[in-house]
Amino acid sequence: MQRAPLKHCKECGTAVVYRVPDDGDTKPRAVCPACHTIHYENPLNVVGTVPYWGDQVLLCKRNIEPRYGKWTLPAGFMELNETTAEGAARETVEEAGAQFELQGLFSLLNVARVGQVHLFYRARLTSDQFAPGTETIEARLFREDEIPWDEIAFRTVKETLDCYFADRRSGHYGIHTLDIT
Ligand SMILES: [Zn+2]
Repeated sequence: MQRAPLKHCKECGTAVVYRVPDDGDTKPRAVCPACHTIHYENPLNVVGTVPYWGDQVLLCKRNIEPRYGKWTLPAGFMELNETTAEGAARETVEEAGAQFELQGLFSLLNVARVGQVHLFYRARLTSDQFAPGTETIEARLFREDEIPWDEIAFRTVKETLDCYFADRRSGHYGIHTLDIT
């Protein structure tokens, strides 16, 4: 999910040049040689949930690249004009068609290498019936001993599931902050 470098100016379409701007900045930016627009690129938030039903967790089999056919927690890029919690809930509806009560923030994972921050909320499912959207091949519940650990799409999902089942065993759910390198 690494973003490709910007190639063309968003204002005028001219090919950009990566250089440190002359305004005291310290990092290279995509600068337009024609209209002089400086394009600032900042990390994106990925928001999702850990939906649970008793001792089981809901995973979605991806119908899209990257990681087609691998399993993930419902998650996706946050949209403008929504909160992190609203985005997490929206993705859970879109990808799994799940019915749930959104609970507290559970994990925050920095993926600095690709300029992303992933946030997962716990979500208590209120039904074990799902209606997966077009981005999902299959949505189903897994007990801890059924989780397809070798078929998990993303490191942040694997780490979040690890934390979830560890907390479940201890009976206390914390907020987990991890840096993925
Ligand atoms: Zn330009």
